[in-house]
Amino acid sequence: MIFTVAIDGPAAAGKGTISRAVAAHFGFAHLDTGLLYRAVGAKGGDPVAAARALTAEDLERGDLRTLEAGQAASRVAVIPEVRAALLAFQRRFARRDGGAVLDGRDIGTVICPEAEVKLYVTASAEVRAHRRWLEVGGDEARVLAEVIERDLRDSERAEAPMKPAADAVVIDTSALTAEEAMARSVRVVVGKLGRQP
Ligand code: C5P
Repeated sequence: MIFTVAIDGPAAAGKGTISRAVAAHFGFAHLDTGLLYRAVGAKGGDPVAAARALTAEDLERGDLRTLEAGQAASRVAVIPEVRAALLAFQRRFARRDGGAVLDGRDIGTVICPEAEVKLYVTASAEVRAHRRWLEVGGDEARVLAEVIERDLRDSERAEAPMKPAADAVVIDTSALTAEEAMARSVRVVVGKLGRQP
């Protein structure tokens, strides 16, 4: 069975939590596509060469979840050749047999416009910064500034900008618990799939 769930939206909106929950609920494979860009940014050197030579091992580095790695990722993500180098792998993953959940910024718009389910998971910048700050600590105002800077860079770039697909279901998690957001997302998928697992 080919069935793709595309989950897009800004940083710390709850995409990761929702993606893992949907994948576990339906037994689908999950790809966090942000990790690809984080790994390219972390490799240093020429980002296009890094993207073309990316290996599974590169995705296992322990330092990919930091604020700095997120900023480096969004800087290399504006480069069209970097995005092009990562496209085929993501497309294949999306259409693999058995169902797939991919989360990122351009899954429903560019990587898999034919996805059976598209969710756009968002929340206010303040709520997202607060959640990220609870994870990483430090100065909350700086975390908010970084969130806003990354949102701008991701949504204003020319190539595959972050935006909801025209047919995406928007889920604003600002006032939802993680459980509520997961339950709502699973319901959307059940509605399209027509069955519980
Ligand atoms: O989702 P995450 O915060 O890990 O993504 C890191 C960065 O990678 C994003 O800010 C964005 O610039 C880039 N990205 C992207 N397209 C995706 C996933 C991530 O441009 N599909």
